[in-house]
Amino acid sequence: MAERLVLRGSADGTDLAVEDGVVAAVGPDLDGSTVVELDGATVLPAFVDHHVHTVRTGFALTGLDLTGSPTLTSALDALAAHAAASPGAGVLLGQGWDETGWAEGRPPTGDELERAAPGRRSYLTRVDGHSSVVSPALAALVPGVADLDGWTPDGRVERDAHHAVRAVLETLITDADRLDAARAACRAMAAQGIATFHENAAPHIGPETEIPLVRRAAEEVGLRAVVYWGELMAVDTARRLGVAGLAGDLIADGAFGSRTAALRSPYDDAPHTCGHGYLTAEQVRDHVLACDEAGLQAGFHVIGDAALDEVADGFELADAVHPVRPGHRLEHVELPSDHVVEVMARLRITASVQPVFDALWGGPDAMYAARLGARWAESNPFARLHRAGVRLAFGSDSPVTALGPWAAIRAAVEHHHPDHRVPHDVALAAHTGGATLAVGQPADLAVWRDLDAEQPTLVRLLVGGRTLHEGDA
Ligand SMILES: [Zn+2]
Repeated sequence: MAERLVLRGSADGTDLAVEDGVVAAVGPDLDGSTVVELDGATVLPAFVDHHVHTVRTGFALTGLDLTGSPTLTSALDALAAHAAASPGAGVLLGQGWDETGWAEGRPPTGDELERAAPGRRSYLTRVDGHSSVVSPALAALVPGVADLDGWTPDGRVERDAHHAVRAVLETLITDADRLDAARAACRAMAAQGIATFHENAAPHIGPETEIPLVRRAAEEVGLRAVVYWGELMAVDTARRLGVAGLAGDLIADGAFGSRTAALRSPYDDAPHTCGHGYLTAEQVRDHVLACDEAGLQAGFHVIGDAALDEVADGFELADAVHPVRPGHRLEHVELPSDHVVEVMARLRITASVQPVFDALWGGPDAMYAARLGARWAESNPFARLHRAGVRLAFGSDSPVTALGPWAAIRAAVEHHHPDHRVPHDVALAAHTGGATLAVGQPADLAVWRDLDAEQPTLVRLLVGGRTLHEGDA
């Protein structure tokens, strides 16, 4: 008899047999060469995280995590402790600070980083990843940084200055560092019941040499990696890298936290700016056409209403030249007009969204309301997208938010605005890539206990029929 694993006695009373990496049978009283008693645990399709930065997630897991630092001082104290604990590190990486909840209401300065970690190269990224603060020792390694767009004399970097700092940073981090980080991230994903992740690689986030390292880490841990490369018109690069698409974090604008997402009318707390759009509709059109011709998915990171208008216009321009293939994707889609939603539904463009953004920053008293005023109530309209027929794909954007599909599902079901909530089954489907437990489907399965708990307990994770994670049953 071939190797046949039977999961016996799930919550709904049925058994499930796995053979050759697929679901071979579902029903009562199945037999197999290996039988695992579930004692009433629940079998679900394993999770898909549709937006991950694997190496950065690893750095966040193993480096300095400032997410939730209650004060500016506590963030600086954490940097000092991290510096003392990592005397040999070529660079001190920290991420996740959020000044909006701090009494000072401002980011740390480069001089404060210097006082916390004297002489060290420190790089602390804001929670949204779109701005950072660098120490003088690191800034000194970036030629001409003070003349670049986005440099602030207090050590804060955005836009061009940020990209220049990152380019130097990449030279200070070794491939061994990156592989270790990717492994840590993959193990953390497996522990959350994630079988498949979408790596949203892009030149402004990390070098393309990370892609083979991410794939290697995924293979070692046993996960499935779908890789995107966020570079405009880079069809040859996509072929060389063997990626699924020129999509993901190909930036059409920035983010609300850094006031760089492109809005039609100004930010409520910065009336001099509408943010920054990086692409024209014509550039979007050409990119979509090039991807269609090459058989690649196209996609963009696009958040503000003005940027979404531009991107939707670009897709429509492309569609006028040649019918656009279904299955392109947009990341974040936070402030779409009805017209944008209609275009996405009609051209079958997936909305890759991050429900925990609303949990963290939505509502009448949080960051979106500060930045957008009344417009916060239009943000992350999952139900509107779903009702229009737009496919929802949930993800974490880790390390922007922590890996954790259950938290995302809860955030979508309990959206701050009642109009944008989706039912639990819709949220679950959006986080499992619409997978089912039907016979013949890949055996990417997660077995859970305590489904009513805030964080259910993962009993077992199978990917392609292979057990990756075995918890206490
Ligand atoms: Zn991202």
